[in-house]
Amino acid sequence: MVVSVEGLVVNAINCGESDKMLTLITRQYGKMSVYCRGGRRISSKFMTASLKFSYGDYVINKTDKLNILQEANAKISFFGLQKDICAAALADYIAEVLTDVSVEEEPDEKTLDLGLNCLYVLSEGKRAPDVVKTVFEWRLIERLGIYPDLSGCCRCGKADKSWYYLDVMNGELTCRDCGGKENGKAKEDDGTARIIILMSGAEVYAANRLINAEKSKMFSLPADRDIKKRLCEASEKYLLNHLERSYKTLEFYKEISAL
Ligand SMILES: [Zn+2]
Repeated sequence: MVVSVEGLVVNAINCGESDKMLTLITRQYGKMSVYCRGGRRISSKFMTASLKFSYGDYVINKTDKLNILQEANAKISFFGLQKDICAAALADYIAEVLTDVSVEEEPDEKTLDLGLNCLYVLSEGKRAPDVVKTVFEWRLIERLGIYPDLSGCCRCGKADKSWYYLDVMNGELTCRDCGGKENGKAKEDDGTARIIILMSGAEVYAANRLINAEKSKMFSLPADRDIKKRLCEASEKYLLNHLERSYKTLEFYKEISAL
């Protein structure tokens, strides 16, 4: 079956003498592995459209065994990513996470659009990479349906400017008064330690605002540097614990952005 799709190349691996295997996140079929014959030849008609981070229209012969690229037309290439090594490193992390959370035959346009928006802002240098990372992670947490209940303390309902404990795996917030009563029971029933993130009321408010912001305002974070930094650390810890993995691309991004 020959299909026309619109999608983003999130990975391109060399294979054979001049071919490539692409991973695309498509609007129509979710994640797709697509064989791109001759894609590495300079004369190839797929040259631009088969590059990582190209977004465009792809005509694919979809079979049970292999999807073969027939036509490709790149609309956006995010070339600006090549100008900034931090932005490029973060884009690699975003691509890897998108690959991980996308499923074959299960399209999710909103998650794809989140990734595209983040790549655009990074490529154009419109926001600092850490801001893009924070927005990507918090909004992805919401997209994946694992966003914690940040409406207030899950025990007493308190929702003010004080500090809270966020229980990562249960997705629950507890105020210090209620959390304090639990000090003797810091472990789950199965004996594993709880993963806790300390969040201020201002951070809780900012996270809620961030996931509900409309597209034009989604990259507006609080001006306070400490709040920004802690929001960035919190989303990473929360997301990675739920995905149950680490990312070398993220480690590399953190290494070079600390230089
Ligand atoms: Zn409480």
